[in-house]
Amino acid sequence: MPQPETRTDTATTGAPAAIDEPTRRALIEALAQAMFAHADELTALDQAIGDGDHGLNMKRGFEAALADVDGLAAKPLPDGLKAMGMTLVMKVGGASGPLYGTLFMTLGKALPVEPDRANLVAAFGAAIDAVKARGKSDFGQKTMLDVLGPVHEALAEGSDPKAAADNAAEATIPMLATRGRASFLGERSIGHMDPGARSSALMVAAIADVLEQG
Ligand SMILES: [Mg+2]
Repeated sequence: MPQPETRTDTATTGAPAAIDEPTRRALIEALAQAMFAHADELTALDQAIGDGDHGLNMKRGFEAALADVDGLAAKPLPDGLKAMGMTLVMKVGGASGPLYGTLFMTLGKALPVEPDRANLVAAFGAAIDAVKARGKSDFGQKTMLDVLGPVHEALAEGSDPKAAADNAAEATIPMLATRGRASFLGERSIGHMDPGARSSALMVAAIADVLEQG
């Protein structure tokens, strides 16, 4: 396989060439900035159909990650992801802490040190299965899974994960929540974007922006 062709393929599919230490640092910083910048919005979404703590919880989790950015970025990718997952479990709390923690920890377990696109697709699939098991949930219940699933499909077929994430988060608005705190509202959960779907879409966009620049 000639080099230029490989590069072109990588560029069009958004797969990382190498997630080196500066890139790992940039990823953590971009995730944290996305959560800080949208904390009020996530809180407002969670006030509508939850208990209103999602923005603050995510902000607290990523403040902790950012405080340890040197340590996290210095680790090889799998170890860094596992450590990030542990931080989110301990610091985010609520329902989303264990779910995002599971997502990152499973990615850490499933990815090799230098992943290619196929590794990324497989690891993301494993992480989704782990989130489903942890949350005893599935697609179509108005949760973060309704963004993670379409992003996985986009990664697998080489289409834009950011657009998939944004569209999928929008698509949770008319959905009836049947899992999570929003499900207590029944029909009144309809008409609001799921806060976890929104935070997932924000994270996908932050990651895609960093990897596209790399
Ligand atoms: Mg909440």
